[in-house]
Amino acid sequence: MAAGTLHVVATPIGNLDDLSPRAVASLRAVAAICCEDTRHSRPLLTRYGIDKPLIALHEHNEDAIAARLVERLLAGEDLALVSDAGTPLVSDPGYRLVRAARDAGVRVSPVPGACAAIAALSVAGLPSDRFCFEGFLPAKPAARRARLTELASEPRTLVIYESSHRIEEMLADARVAFGAARRAALARELTKLFETVLDGDLAMLHERVCNDADQRRGEFVLIVAGVGDAVDAKLIEGRRLYAKLSEHLPPSQAAKLAAELSGAPRKDLYGG
Ligand code: SAM
Repeated sequence: MAAGTLHVVATPIGNLDDLSPRAVASLRAVAAICCEDTRHSRPLLTRYGIDKPLIALHEHNEDAIAARLVERLLAGEDLALVSDAGTPLVSDPGYRLVRAARDAGVRVSPVPGACAAIAALSVAGLPSDRFCFEGFLPAKPAARRARLTELASEPRTLVIYESSHRIEEMLADARVAFGAARRAALARELTKLFETVLDGDLAMLHERVCNDADQRRGEFVLIVAGVGDAVDAKLIEGRRLYAKLSEHLPPSQAAKLAAELSGAPRKDLYGG
């Protein structure tokens, strides 16, 4: 018997009309749909008159049930994989199931659609010919700052996911790591009622979010320009030197020396 196909189906990131006709047809045709949270996916499916068995597949059980799902695919059943929103596997579960299906020689076919990263990039007005998807940064402050410091010299545009709980502190850390003047755009609640896209430099975005509680609500994608120009490069080098020198010298001397060596303004080396 021929094996079935695993259809990896993108679903909307807010506006339920963003489900493609092909996605609807695929979901109607399969034997069962794997989803992160059955309570979350049911309303979308009901809206499109799709009544199929749902199988919960999330980060805590994916390893355990992937083998059983592959058996069903090998037995000839077609299955679909969706996540709560957007494209499965993009900061969402599904990687282990897709890996297991491919290892078993099962056909895995995409039904593309919404993805918050791509939607944000498409409206940010920042270079998008090359970009670097970082997804969620580490939740712990020290690890997040270390990651941002590493990313400060990345020449490609950066795409970062964030939730409302940490948006303020993440922007504060990004402002320090990349410098207040780095260009960025903050896309919030894309395709939903309160969609906003702020763009400017990181200082301006941070201040907007600090000063306006509405701008801290919802789901966010931060797009940060890569370290493009000479000013940025000087600042990054100045900060690197300051961090090293301040291990051995008082802060004011370390900043003075780092500013002289790098050409960056001394006042910017403390992180403002
Ligand atoms: N798989 C999804 C995709 O394709 O974009 C991402 C899932 S991830 C668990 C959820 C994160 O995506 C949110 O915390 C937020 O950073 C981003 N996100 C999802 N929907 C969004 C929206 N409507 N507007 C802005 N960001 C969104």
